[in-house]
Amino acid sequence: MQLRIPGPTPVPPEVLQAGASPMVNHRGPEFADLITRVTARMKELMMTQNEVFVLTGSGTGALESAIVNTLSPGQKVLAVSIGEFGDRFTEIAHTFGANVIRMKFEPGEHADLNRIRETLVADRDIRALMITHNETSTGVTNDMRAVGALAKELDVLLLVDSVSGIGALPYPVDAWGGDVVATGSQKGWMAPPGLAMVAVSQRAMDAGKEAKMPRVYWDYAAAKSYLAKNQTPWTPALSVMYALDKGLELMVNEGLENVLARHARVGQTVRDAVKSIGMQLLPKDEKYASNSVTAIKMPEGVSSIDVQKAVREEFDIELAIGQGSLTPKLIRVGHLGWVSDKDIADVSTALKAVMPRFTKGA
Ligand SMILES: *Cc1c(COP(=O)(O)O)cnc(C)c1O
Repeated sequence: MQLRIPGPTPVPPEVLQAGASPMVNHRGPEFADLITRVTARMKELMMTQNEVFVLTGSGTGALESAIVNTLSPGQKVLAVSIGEFGDRFTEIAHTFGANVIRMKFEPGEHADLNRIRETLVADRDIRALMITHNETSTGVTNDMRAVGALAKELDVLLLVDSVSGIGALPYPVDAWGGDVVATGSQKGWMAPPGLAMVAVSQRAMDAGKEAKMPRVYWDYAAAKSYLAKNQTPWTPALSVMYALDKGLELMVNEGLENVLARHARVGQTVRDAVKSIGMQLLPKDEKYASNSVTAIKMPEGVSSIDVQKAVREEFDIELAIGQGSLTPKLIRVGHLGWVSDKDIADVSTALKAVMPRFTKGA
């Protein structure tokens, strides 16, 4: 079966193999080598000198960590949402007691920088800007270069959900900015689920000294002090870390530029195939269409659940449907991490074969 959902993503055989390595003492020398290597490669691929912590948990855990390590209850934050994952990030901040100003965009829209600027300028008490880099539920990528410049200019902390972005899409963290940039092993990193990686700026670490939100498991100060000893505070998902180590090695060997170019290419291929059969993309402006996940609108009267089933049964390819209220209205194709031109040609073939049948009936 070809898994073409936006996470978990397929994992190369050598990565699976690495994940089957024997257990070691997580306070011993073998683990010290492993975490040192993984952290260094993550920094290289995220293009940052910031702290990088490899946390055991899913991407949502990393989002929670970004909030509880930098904010205090009652502090004002601007939470920008362009879809389901933006809503989730917003809800975490709200749950932990932040004074959340919600800015929501319609599914398919990208974040409007002018609106963000106006809001931040009008209220200088806003401490942090929270935003999704790549909204997996709608297949829209925000312009992080511009968002980073704005956060810097207006001097707000920038907390970024880049779970399905960085590693597959360009995001040089030091050049573009971002005080906490969060991602997950099962998205662009050719590894199984179980680890969440965060790049944390000095500014965010300093904010942590004042931040009063409760935290134990996700505490960055603990992660930092243990990392100084080449350890993690708690028992890490060792098997996933072995796998991630191999995934990162493959990425470094391919070269980040080539990895990003491959994603740009497969993204374009999927969009071209969608348009060639008269279907529509959810992103309103194709300039913001994601190169890691494509969201395709179902024609009137066609349920994505039926399309997903047909593609599964006839082509042995697993596609994703929509999320939330868009569940039956979207097919989403994941094309991040271990994805080749051939894989995406197969998806295009399947959609071209299956869709006309549904649209004729509609
Ligand atoms: C997958 C994803 C998450 C959540 O990750 P989990 O590992 O499922 O917790 C958050 N944000 C975005 C944009 C994602 O794609």
